[in-house]
Amino acid sequence: MKTNAAEFDLRTPATLGEALALLGEPQGKWRPFAGGTDLMVLLESGNLMHKNFVNLRGFKELRGIEVSPQFVVLGALTTFSAIQENELIKKEFPCLVQAAAQVGAIAIQNRGTIGGNIGNASPAADSPPALLIYDAEIELMSTSGARWVSYDSFHTGYKKTLLGAGELISKIRLPRTTRASGRTVHYFRKVGARKAQAISKVSVAGWAHVEKGVIKEVRLALGSVAPTVVRGKNTENLLKGKVLSPALYEEARSILGGEISPISDIRSTDVYRKRIAQNLLSEFLEHVGLDQ
Ligand SMILES: Cc1cc2nc3c(=O)[nH]c(=O)nc-3n(C[C@H](O)[C@H](O)[C@H](O)COP(=O)(O)OP(=O)(O)OC[C@H]3O[C@@H](n4cnc5c(N)ncnc54)[C@H](O)[C@@H]3O)c2cc1C
Repeated sequence: MKTNAAEFDLRTPATLGEALALLGEPQGKWRPFAGGTDLMVLLESGNLMHKNFVNLRGFKELRGIEVSPQFVVLGALTTFSAIQENELIKKEFPCLVQAAAQVGAIAIQNRGTIGGNIGNASPAADSPPALLIYDAEIELMSTSGARWVSYDSFHTGYKKTLLGAGELISKIRLPRTTRASGRTVHYFRKVGARKAQAISKVSVAGWAHVEKGVIKEVRLALGSVAPTVVRGKNTENLLKGKVLSPALYEEARSILGGEISPISDIRSTDVYRKRIAQNLLSEFLEHVGLDQ
């Protein structure tokens, strides 16, 4: 429901250091404000819990996409449009591009940031499953310095994260992996009520490296099926080192069903979400098995 926009305080410090100092003030009064595409919706609906925000948009330290032999590093303010325009990300991390292309519509992709998508900590967000299959790491920064953490460990519960007092997400890095032989499969699929402007009912990202029909490595991640985005680690463990067969398909579907815990809400039901997650796993495995 729309209400009159609540009063809020948005500060625009001159430097990142000043912004970190505000975020580090006692009682955690200040919160980061990036594109505002999540925050402004909460503000308009009267559901904004916090009223004090630090505007990050001017800080070049949080912008840009850098490439080294080991990593692609994205500043937290990287927009979904910038991700889709980057040739290297398109080539090496296509699921992230597919996810970025499914966030809202073009206006949201031009303004919404990857740091905000992670910081908002929704289990239905589009970029996190792709970040999980690519083994992303994120840099958390405060006045005390910076630390890298594995993205896999970042979401600790529904809307809970590893972010400590005064920390913001400054960078996201994706390890660049090359394999001398074999075939690499990238898979992303979001199921929503519509093709655009829909929050996912279920999303699945998969990555696998296959050699002579054997699944040497596999990563599977899912959105909207648990309190956080999750890796399907039991399913991965089953698949790793195996050659696909009809029996393995069925066992994988069953194990996946046992390791996710979707809920029923306004967008879907627990039964539908589980079935669709299993169907998307099957579709991913069809891509994995194509060369057999
Ligand atoms: C019409 C509409 C459609 C949408 N559709 C989708 C969709 O399909 N898929 C999807 O995933 N999302 C969707 N969203 C949600 C939103 O656009 C994304 O989550 C976006 O990535 C948020 O980024 P932002 O920069 O706008 O974040 P903001 O709104 O600025 O911030 C979001 C949250 O993250 C925190 N935050 C921001 N930056 C940082 C940082 N660097 N470090 C720590 N915390 C930070 C903020 O404090 C806040 O809690 C939609 C939103 C709208 C309005």
